[in-house]
Amino acid sequence: MKSQYLILLALLVIPVRAGSQVLVSSPLSPRITGYSIDAVLDPQAKTVNGKMKAYWVNVTDDSVPDIWLHLYLNAFSSNKTTFYREKGGSPGSKPDDLGWVKIESLTDRRGNNLLPAMKYVSPDDDNPDDRSVARIILPQAVAGKDTLFLEAEFESKLPSDITRTGYSKDFFFVAQWFPKFGVYEPPGMRGRREGGWNCHQFHANSEFYSNHSVYEVNITVPAGYVVGSGGITLAEEDNGDGTKTVRTRAEDIVDFAWTAWPGYKVFTDTWKHVNIKLLLPAEKSNLAERHFTAVKYALGYLEENVGPYPWNYLTFADPPVMGTGAGGMEYTTLFTSMSVPGIPDYILLPEMVTVHEFGHAFFMGIIATNEFEEPWLDEGINSYWEQRIMDHYYGNAGIINHPLFKISDKSMARSSYIASPSRQAASNAGYSWNYPHGTYSMMSYMKAAAILHTLTGMVGEETMNEVFREYYRKWAFRHPSAGDFIDVVNATVLKMHGDRFGSDLNWFFEQTIFGTGICDYKVINIINRKAEEFQGLSIQPDSSFFVERKKMPDTLNYSVVQLQRDGEIQLPVEVLIRFDNGDEILEKWDGKSRVKDFRYTGKRKVTQVKIDPEYKNQMDINFINNSMAERPDRKPLKRLFRRIFSIMIFFMDFVII
Ligand SMILES: [Zn+2]
Repeated sequence: MKSQYLILLALLVIPVRAGSQVLVSSPLSPRITGYSIDAVLDPQAKTVNGKMKAYWVNVTDDSVPDIWLHLYLNAFSSNKTTFYREKGGSPGSKPDDLGWVKIESLTDRRGNNLLPAMKYVSPDDDNPDDRSVARIILPQAVAGKDTLFLEAEFESKLPSDITRTGYSKDFFFVAQWFPKFGVYEPPGMRGRREGGWNCHQFHANSEFYSNHSVYEVNITVPAGYVVGSGGITLAEEDNGDGTKTVRTRAEDIVDFAWTAWPGYKVFTDTWKHVNIKLLLPAEKSNLAERHFTAVKYALGYLEENVGPYPWNYLTFADPPVMGTGAGGMEYTTLFTSMSVPGIPDYILLPEMVTVHEFGHAFFMGIIATNEFEEPWLDEGINSYWEQRIMDHYYGNAGIINHPLFKISDKSMARSSYIASPSRQAASNAGYSWNYPHGTYSMMSYMKAAAILHTLTGMVGEETMNEVFREYYRKWAFRHPSAGDFIDVVNATVLKMHGDRFGSDLNWFFEQTIFGTGICDYKVINIINRKAEEFQGLSIQPDSSFFVERKKMPDTLNYSVVQLQRDGEIQLPVEVLIRFDNGDEILEKWDGKSRVKDFRYTGKRKVTQVKIDPEYKNQMDINFINNSMAERPDRKPLKRLFRRIFSIMIFFMDFVII
């Protein structure tokens, strides 16, 4: 079959019911997979029973003999799963506590029973107790350009220890809940040599990777429950038996999750073409305005600087305290924020989480990177944008904005990188579950964001915006790798700056993303002394000599500024030199040598030196040693004063950068 026909088929393959509609006029993505699920929540048993029809289009030329499915909820089935081995602890000891997904029937389009051919596999760690990935050898391989159809009945038991997904009393957050295809990657995709399924287990420190899909999900819950989902609600029908069915559809999203709870209050707002729905517990009602303001800031900023948000709806929830474990997670058109009731206005946690989780609609939702293997492309890039948005709209005080104390979101995040004792334990080249000593968050979020801010400092914000606009244009609704992102950076910087930074910026990424070194530039000393008179032998043209003293003007000074690179990372830096007559010079240093001296002779004296005065280099692990004031003095009190003064300079900047 022809691929164009397949895309059309993909659009139509899900049975069209009354009230069904196509949400966007033409598909945003190739729609390689699609799911139609009837889901029934049993709030007593804490289960969801599902009837699923799904398809996978083999858009490659490969003949594919098997399919791989994620069965994520099995991560909560015992304390020996890979998820709990990595996380520590246990899902609980009572049957009520455990989570699992059981496939009760599985057939192909010819009615072949595929269950006997299903085997649990653990491609990441060979853990025999992990059942979060299943492989099914098909009776007949799926030929290139052919489509596989599946029908399945399954039961999903939600866990009580909510980590993204689960239940607490009558609160349900239903995520990673249905059998889901891995991603089949043909040769050449993301640097692959041979085609194969990319289907990792459920890890403690990893998110997900999947194709953009069409979802049609009918959710049946008790009539008094409020439902929010990643789909648009097409209809809500009273079943006359104390339950209702919410019919939803979503297009071109990478995952479908939903939440149901009788305690939600529903708030609505709009932004341009987007109808926004916010679900809050009553005790957080006063936060509705703050959440809406934040999400609209993010919508506007990302549209302007990255690309459009293409869906016309968006739903988000700030879960009740008992469901906090479901907070701060993203499913593209549905996300969860996080807060505590009564949180003061000057602590911008709810705004920050809302901006962050919404941002994932772009970085992993639209540009769907492999979060298992390259987590920084998702969390690092998204944190970078979160910090830019927060500090742009909340006055460079994007995390604490108190009249007496302000901290920018960017500075807060950077501090957890520079203060980490394990900041050199790994590089950002690692798979998300392989980061040692609890470094996953610091590496994937904080360090990666600091790297991108540093790149912004070098090439400028407008160039970075253009990098991301191009990244969006080229990779929206596809699956780029780190190499693909860096290619966009290289091409854009070359286009906008010529070879000012070299023929490419690979040298930057090799040191920062793929290296383990640190960056630390510091001022060692400022020396000011009077230019000395000449004393000694003067040699005449005829080789005779005589003793001479040549007087110099009293006002002439000789100054030396001594700088040093202590880290392995070499980055260009600016150095601001201030003189006692008010003069300022902004020197440029390529940052490559271990030591660097700047020398001046004249009537003025150097009074202050600041390396990187605009804090462009967010990789520098110690800003305090970047500054030095006045001339050196060996008297301890004065030296102490100078140290305090340098720290004051740093903190004065810290609160406003
Ligand atoms: Zn995130």
